Amino acid sequence: MKRISAPTLMPMQPYNDCVSSILDEPLKNRLQSISNTIETHANLYIERAAHGNTYTINPILHARGADPFIVNDIRKSELINLYDYNMVQRHPGRTTYDQILVSANEKCPFCGGIGRPKSLDHYLPKANYPQYSVLPQNLIPACRDCNTGKSNDIALEPGQQPIHPYFDHDRFFVDQWVFGRIIETHPCSIFFFTQMPAGWSEIDFQRAANHFSDFDLSKRYSIQAAEELGVVVDQRKGYLAGCSPDEFSNFLRSVSNAPSLFANHWKKIMYQTLAGNRWFCSTEF
Ligand SMILES: [Zn+2]
Repeated sequence: MKRISAPTLMPMQPYNDCVSSILDEPLKNRLQSISNTIETHANLYIERAAHGNTYTINPILHARGADPFIVNDIRKSELINLYDYNMVQRHPGRTTYDQILVSANEKCPFCGGIGRPKSLDHYLPKANYPQYSVLPQNLIPACRDCNTGKSNDIALEPGQQPIHPYFDHDRFFVDQWVFGRIIETHPCSIFFFTQMPAGWSEIDFQRAANHFSDFDLSKRYSIQAAEELGVVVDQRKGYLAGCSPDEFSNFLRSVSNAPSLFANHWKKIMYQTLAGNRWFCSTEF
């Protein structure tokens, strides 16, 4: 929903760094011995993600608690531990972790910046794709709500894939697909919804709509907007009291058009919705 730049790290750097901090020599040697295969997996991921096709990568599906072999004699738990211990808790892996975390400039890309990233989220969940547990291109800075709210459902159809902030096509970040509607009550509120832009494929729109619903963005945006609406109403009662409905609408539209707000930013949509609503612009609060 909000584009951020992909980590400039070489795909295998965190893997090599994390393996280097393992104290258990036999485990370290075993993980080093599969690095070529991990690199092949990494290249496949990057190629598929660039085409919005990560759903074609087969997940590891197994009974709860099972610990299957993933590559040769390396088990799923060993690849997950590589992330949990050697990347999250130890240097030099932690340095890379922090480097990716700060790259989002304090704005979570999944919700479009309403939350601040607190941790890294695996775009393809590590439980089902353990070969990507420390692949930097699979690690996305995410806020707490997005990280805990993201369903762990595996995308097996193209339309189920969340929007990938590093790799997905510009249309997801540049075209407007979030819209708002005023609920004309006192106090009023704004309902956010998705609508398919002209020229989009059905699958791309399914992805955007599923992303919006998976991260609970309609509700979360309405909560943000409720607070901001209070500010707007205070301005209308205060220094904007003398404005005609058209002048007030123009003011709201100018806020909506601020270059700092990307296409589907909740605030942009909110001000656009208010500016286009005659009832709101002509109401005496
Ligand atoms: Zn978020």
